[in-house]
Amino acid sequence: MVGNVHLTSWVLWRIRRSKRSLSRTTPLMYRLPRTASVATTSLLILACLLLGAAPASAAPSLRAPWACGEAYPVSQSHNTGSHIGKGTWSWDFAMPVGTALIAPADGIVRAVRQDSTRYGCDSSYAYDANYVILSFQDGTEALFLHLEANSSPLEVGDRVRTGDFIGRVGMSGWTCGPHLHFQIQKTCDSWWCSSVEANFAEHGDPSTGQQITSSNCTRPTEEPQMASYTPEDATGGVDGPDKDAGPACWIE
Ligand SMILES: [Zn+2]
Repeated sequence: MVGNVHLTSWVLWRIRRSKRSLSRTTPLMYRLPRTASVATTSLLILACLLLGAAPASAAPSLRAPWACGEAYPVSQSHNTGSHIGKGTWSWDFAMPVGTALIAPADGIVRAVRQDSTRYGCDSSYAYDANYVILSFQDGTEALFLHLEANSSPLEVGDRVRTGDFIGRVGMSGWTCGPHLHFQIQKTCDSWWCSSVEANFAEHGDPSTGQQITSSNCTRPTEEPQMASYTPEDATGGVDGPDKDAGPACWIE
């Protein structure tokens, strides 16, 4: 953007310079090329403005963050229960402890925590969650929360491709049953950032109770997989039912 500002300033300077030098005594044969130059620079300005208005890059196309063919239900969606405040746009997917999680898009690992074995169905455990944060080019990132301790091979700075292994579902942090808390958030200087509205490429924005079958089949997952979960298995697979416990399920 700064580069665009400099380029636009240079183009404006070129136009002013061209106008000054077009004196009345200049023969027509010399004026025409300079008039054409003004037209060219005007086009350059338009290009600058268009470039400046365009986003840095498009939002990633998200695939389900678990293995191809497995199905899990949404146990909690948006703006309800513990998903308020910064977590408004998150989803909880009920799935057994040990379920392998995979990347929903290409990205770079911004943060990993996997040393916690503490958990409980109470907001006082909010800071005890293990997580992986995968950053995308457009400034958003995927937060995988409640991972099993020491289940991720990833380190900060690792490049990850769609379908690569991320870690395993665990019981860590504020959790009342095994599940993955997943949200797309705008990057910030914490691990707990404001979630943003997002959609899965083939499932849109699933609501509570909806069963999602992963078609994230771009890469074979060598890790052993868990069986699919049914909505009846999902009892308790949320962060916490008490919306009055705090501003969100994990307090900043
Ligand atoms: Zn959640």
